[in-house]
Amino acid sequence: MKIIFATGNAHKMEEIRMILADLGAEIFSMKEAGVEVEVVEDGSTFEENAMLKAAAIASLEKVKQMGAVVLADDSGLEIDYLNKEPGIYSARYAGTETSYDIKNSLLLSRMKGVPEEQRTARFVCAVAAVFPDGSREVVRGIMEGHVAWEPAGANGFGYDPIFYLPEYGCTSAELSPEKKNELSHRGQALRKMRDIMEKRI
Ligand code: IMP
Repeated sequence: MKIIFATGNAHKMEEIRMILADLGAEIFSMKEAGVEVEVVEDGSTFEENAMLKAAAIASLEKVKQMGAVVLADDSGLEIDYLNKEPGIYSARYAGTETSYDIKNSLLLSRMKGVPEEQRTARFVCAVAAVFPDGSREVVRGIMEGHVAWEPAGANGFGYDPIFYLPEYGCTSAELSPEKKNELSHRGQALRKMRDIMEKRI
C-alpha cells in the first residue's frame, strides 16, 4: 500500500510516520510524491477542510497512476471562552506569517484573568482519506486541556506551549514526541484511520 499524506508540515509528517509505521505501507509526503496543489480551505468544519485537501490531491493524474491512498488532516485549537476560536482558522489566526510566539501571547492576553475552570480548550483533528477506488472516509480525534497561564516547553509546534494538560501537570510542548502521539488529537484520528486502512489492505 502506498500512502500520500497531504501536508507540507515536517512535524506532522514525523508524527504520522511514527503512528502509521506498523501498517507496513510506503508513506510519501507531497514533496516525495512530487505533487503540489494549492487548496482553498473554505469548508466550515475540520472534516470538510481535510476532505477538500485529500480530494484535490487524489484527483491528480500522477496520484491516480500511483494507486495511492491520499490522507489529509485539518486541525486546530478550540478555546471555549473565546467561542471556540481560533478553531478552523488556527493556522490563519492573527495572520499566516505571524510567529507562534506572537499568536500564543495574543491568545494568552485575551485569556488574562479568566479563571481556571473557564480556560477549557481542545485540540481537534479530522483525518480524511480518499482510496484509489474513489471511496472516502473521515474520522476525528480530540485532546482536551486548558489554556495555560504562560507558555512552557519546547517540543511540538504551534499552540503546544500554551496547551496545558491538567492530568499530566505540563503543556503538550513538554511531552515527549512519543507521549504526545499517544495522547494527541492527531494520534487518535490517525489510529482510527489506520484501523480503517488495515481492514482494506
Ligand atoms: P492545519 O495545518 O491547517 O491543520 O492547521 C493546524 C493549526 O492548528 C496550526 O495553526 C497549528 O499550529 C494548530 N495545531 C494543530 N495541531 C496542533 C498541535 O498538535 N499542537 C499545536 N498546534 C497545533
